[in-house]
Amino acid sequence: MFDSYPTQSDAYEFFSGGSRELKGLVTVTSGNTDRCVLISGGIHGDESCGPSSMTFIARHLRANMGRLNGTVHFLLGNPEAFGARKRFMEKDLNRSFLSSYSDSYEAKRGKEIEKFLINNRNIKGVLDLHSVPVGDTQMLIYKVRDKDIAQRVSPISTHLLYDDKHLKGLFLKAADRYLNCFTAAVECGNHTAKESHLRSMFHILSMLKEFEIFDEPELLNLFSSEVDDGPIITRYEIIESITPKTGFKYVIPKVATGVQISKGMIYAQSDEGNHQATKECCLVLPSKDFKMEYSEFGFLCSKEIITRKISS
Ligand SMILES: [Zn+2]
Repeated sequence: MFDSYPTQSDAYEFFSGGSRELKGLVTVTSGNTDRCVLISGGIHGDESCGPSSMTFIARHLRANMGRLNGTVHFLLGNPEAFGARKRFMEKDLNRSFLSSYSDSYEAKRGKEIEKFLINNRNIKGVLDLHSVPVGDTQMLIYKVRDKDIAQRVSPISTHLLYDDKHLKGLFLKAADRYLNCFTAAVECGNHTAKESHLRSMFHILSMLKEFEIFDEPELLNLFSSEVDDGPIITRYEIIESITPKTGFKYVIPKVATGVQISKGMIYAQSDEGNHQATKECCLVLPSKDFKMEYSEFGFLCSKEIITRKISS
């Protein structure tokens, strides 16, 4: 079956033939619009696991319509950047859901997607698929409110909680504002790892199962092998976003999610001087390159270890 797994170009093609309502949208429905979820990927155009896996699952659903009971919107977030194989055209789309005026391509795209959200308030859950440039980090990102559903949808044992203070203009925040429903994002691993695609497909199917739209245990099981699970959850909370500065570089021996930085330690340097941690913290989702147009170069987070609740 993996012979038919869509390449980046196949996925681009697939989403080009999408809906008139919104560019990059493909909807598969049994006619039941009460059970409805939105799966998105390619909000960052350099992350192919979301769009390819959405293409695969959308085709699979179409081939098995008799077992589908609900509506699934698949959204290629940033078609232009995905076509160009770039993270974004002008601005990070995943920080462009802001009310303040900007005329970048991504700000306009953000408005189009918001309009779609406003017109589709029957959506009960949103899952946004991503991958990372450094390491093979798997991470589940959500608001505290959604922790129970998040843990049912994903066995990933590294979590990042987002709040109102940080990640301004995040797509999930817009989704939550208009839909007020379960919203989560998954970092599926490295941009270039084939495992990221399996993890991405696992999470799509797991969402469809959770919302009782489509359930295929064998396939879910097949895709589960690469997903990092465990009884212990490491939960990060953002203390500080590492904002772009010219001449920025990390000066710690290992740059990866989870690396501990003690209070007072110089973790980076830039043209502004040394950057020192004001608290005991961990580095999370560091960038590999340091383009000034990026939203941040990583995060400093507090860390909490929790034991997973085993549901009976
Ligand atoms: Zn991303």
